[in-house]
Amino acid sequence: MINQLKDVVTGSAEIAKAMGVTLKYFFKKPVTHQYPDEPVEVYPRFRGRHVLKRYDNGLERCIGCALCAAACPTDCIYVQASENTDDQRYSPGERYASIYDINMLRCIFCGYCAEACPTEAIVLEHDFALAEYNRWDAIYTKERLLQPHDPSYIVLRSDEEFKLAETWGKK
Ligand code: SF4
Ligand code: SF4
Repeated sequence: MINQLKDVVTGSAEIAKAMGVTLKYFFKKPVTHQYPDEPVEVYPRFRGRHVLKRYDNGLERCIGCALCAAACPTDCIYVQASENTDDQRYSPGERYASIYDINMLRCIFCGYCAEACPTEAIVLEHDFALAEYNRWDAIYTKERLLQPHDPSYIVLRSDEEFKLAETWGKK
């Protein structure tokens, strides 16, 4: 009988304790983010989706040297370089990347590619909305990577990017 009373008292105390915790948070502002309707903040050094940068004059920073591919520990970057000509100039150097692919399924977002790049062409920015409907779309081509910084990076992809993704793999 005494043991049963002890159990009742102990149980009641535990319930009161738990209810205390519940009541403590009941009146606090909820921390749930209504993503993607509301922006989500990330730390400044967060490493997300890659972007290939341009210079202010529009020329591509990438010179096709493939140092990023050499530095990548998961071998997920493929670079094919081609020569610039006076008629068709893409970058300030002799060569440019005619093909630049990153397989995002293999990327571990270590940032070594950005560290190795001599022209600061490849940068890991803050976009983390990287879900795809099929694995082919997870291979980001130069056309998808080469873009000016989009401050609305956390909003779902643009129609243009969806169209590019649809055509990829059918070439
Ligand atoms: S972040 Fe790391 S794993 Fe991803 S592409 Fe760059 S070097 Fe490779
Ligand atoms: S992104 Fe940088 S390291 Fe990679 S090929 Fe272009 S210039 Fe070279």
